[in-house]
Amino acid sequence: MSTAETTDYYTVGDPIADGMTPSGPIEDRWDARKFDAKLVNPANRRKLSVIIVGTGLAGASAAATLGEAGYQVTSFCYQDSPRRAHSIAAQGGINAAKNYRNDGDSVYRLFYDTVKGGDYRSREANVYRLAQVSVDIIDQCVAQGIPFAREYGGLLDNRSFGGVQVSRTFYARGQTGQQLLLGAYQALQRQVAEGTVTVHARHEMLDVIVVDGKARGVVVRDMVTGAIETHFADAVVLASGGYGNAYYLSTNAMGCNVTATWRAHRRGALFANPCFTQIHPTCIPVSGDYQSKLTLMSESLRNDGRIWVPKKGGDDRDPRDIPTEDRDYYLERIYPSYGNLVPRDVASRAAKNICDDGRGVGPGGLGVYLDLADAVERLGRPAIEDRYGNLFDMYQQITDENPWEVPMRIYPAVHYTMGGLWVDYDLHSTIPGLFVIGEANYSDHGANRLGASALMQGLADGYFVLPGTINEYLAAGPFEDIDESHPAAQEAANAVHQRIDTLLSINGNRTVDSFHKELGSILWDHCGMERTKDGLAKALQMVRELKVEFWRDVKVSGENEELNQALERAGRVADFFELAELMCIDAWHRDESCGCHFRAESQTTDGEALRDDDDFAYVAAWEFTGADAPPVLHKENLTYDFIELKQRSYT
Ligand SMILES: Cc1cc2nc3c(=O)[nH]c(=O)nc-3n(C[C@H](O)[C@H](O)[C@H](O)COP(=O)(O)OP(=O)(O)OC[C@H]3O[C@@H](n4cnc5c(N)ncnc54)[C@H](O)[C@@H]3O)c2cc1C
Repeated sequence: MSTAETTDYYTVGDPIADGMTPSGPIEDRWDARKFDAKLVNPANRRKLSVIIVGTGLAGASAAATLGEAGYQVTSFCYQDSPRRAHSIAAQGGINAAKNYRNDGDSVYRLFYDTVKGGDYRSREANVYRLAQVSVDIIDQCVAQGIPFAREYGGLLDNRSFGGVQVSRTFYARGQTGQQLLLGAYQALQRQVAEGTVTVHARHEMLDVIVVDGKARGVVVRDMVTGAIETHFADAVVLASGGYGNAYYLSTNAMGCNVTATWRAHRRGALFANPCFTQIHPTCIPVSGDYQSKLTLMSESLRNDGRIWVPKKGGDDRDPRDIPTEDRDYYLERIYPSYGNLVPRDVASRAAKNICDDGRGVGPGGLGVYLDLADAVERLGRPAIEDRYGNLFDMYQQITDENPWEVPMRIYPAVHYTMGGLWVDYDLHSTIPGLFVIGEANYSDHGANRLGASALMQGLADGYFVLPGTINEYLAAGPFEDIDESHPAAQEAANAVHQRIDTLLSINGNRTVDSFHKELGSILWDHCGMERTKDGLAKALQMVRELKVEFWRDVKVSGENEELNQALERAGRVADFFELAELMCIDAWHRDESCGCHFRAESQTTDGEALRDDDDFAYVAAWEFTGADAPPVLHKENLTYDFIELKQRSYT
């Protein structure tokens, strides 16, 4: 047992186990679960209701599918339209084990790559199911008319993403998320027209209503009028996305936040692996102090792009004048078999090491080149334009540099969160009746997500997995009728009112954004690409002090009864503060390196992440015990019956 067990930061509770995964051969488990799960007959589905928070790929696909099945669905999002959910930003593609390229791919290989890519910190049965379902997703999307890229022969085209040696990524130029979301949105709107789904846009969920231990509704704020409303259903599904914006600067849409899952956590849902944050290697570098958003250059560019820096530090020649012999294609040098397509955590750390070594390029030396010149020469500009044209345009618009003439400059940035609410094989959280899908759950990606697998997981959860498991729970319904007069509903609504009143009454001197920015830089410095025990302890202290200052000195102008973006942001940042503490505690307690979680104290002689499987082969699921009280750690032990635990190698 590690020394981290005795600490003031947290206490250790009973282990937690996923009781829903069937036993038997791994390839039969999902079929077995679907067969064993109770069914609800179509006539009874009309009497059962489900609230779904979120209209990204996970939420929209779930709402459309459950609506089509005949349940009464109420859907919420904070954007002005479901089709503006953050999923629309996804660029590069979506994985599926179709083996169209006949390059040795299979369901088993996708399963293997994902478990290995996640550095052996995910649940085997879930990942296998994800790989199985991946092939159905593509069929579903093609049937919806998603314009995936095609090859000359007519088959859907594929490209490669990091951490794999086959081509299994389906794409629609650099706009895959947008096309997939339009497909899910049209399926959702069809159900709106059929009367099975009601959508409430511009409504922010601020609490879960738990009645007799079951999730029975939500408290939402109408973001236009400020009205606080309660909504009820037989089950609640959170599809509210990830929390990368805790770091302030990230590639996520500006609105992404943790409030929905954090509020559920405060009501009893365990939060798993909060410190597992993916830092993406190919983002446009930070350009100044006033920046509030970072932009991703899709990983797909690493298919054809080569990453390099000058061999000598301080070489400030125009990159076009630096001859090949003076360039260090460091990923190809260090990882010859995967080259530029090593997984994201490995590529990000390598870029950081090169820059720390004084060989970075661009302002402040925080950048490396991503160069497509060789590919343009080999394949011709039209072929590269076909694959990545919109990404080149975007780069030029943001940096005012022409990537057709000079190589792009990139640097790692916060991108995705593998952590999230803990769920069992049925995607059921620890609050009965509360299901969590998409990036909002702690997901199937372990300690590092491979590229193009978030879209796969979101759509797997929404189109296929949740519709196959939620019946089990709903079959016991409809549950007792409740309305806003129920004490639990009143208590939740009052708590929301009270928090808003407090935020509006502080009337301090600092803007919400200035707090958020400072919080983000603490997290980036100490709970980012590299972490140390001392640094995390220091960060925890700093976060706590800043949180106290926030509640004393934040300025939120305006009123509740109007469109008030400062108020919206204040509530989200307040939740980021509490989450940030848990992220630091989780990172502090995990005395090993794995995937994205690189603890400087735990590395191989080559500087790679060194896991400690004896002590840490578990999911850390945290229980909330109070805003200033130590959380309780529940461990779900991970066993590997099909894939052998090994030190990851991409050399
Ligand atoms: C720039 C970028 C590019 C990416 N490219 C790829 C890619 O090529 N391939 C890939 O696999 N992955 C990619 N990803 C990751 C992927 O896009 C996301 O992980 C995925 O889209 C998340 O989908 P989701 O449905 O879980 O959540 P989201 O799309 O984030 O949707 C969240 C929904 O929840 C709603 N919501 C949240 N909180 C509340 C609340 N409190 N009240 C009401 N509504 C709420 C929002 O309104 C929204 O509708 C990319 C990510 C980024 C940032």
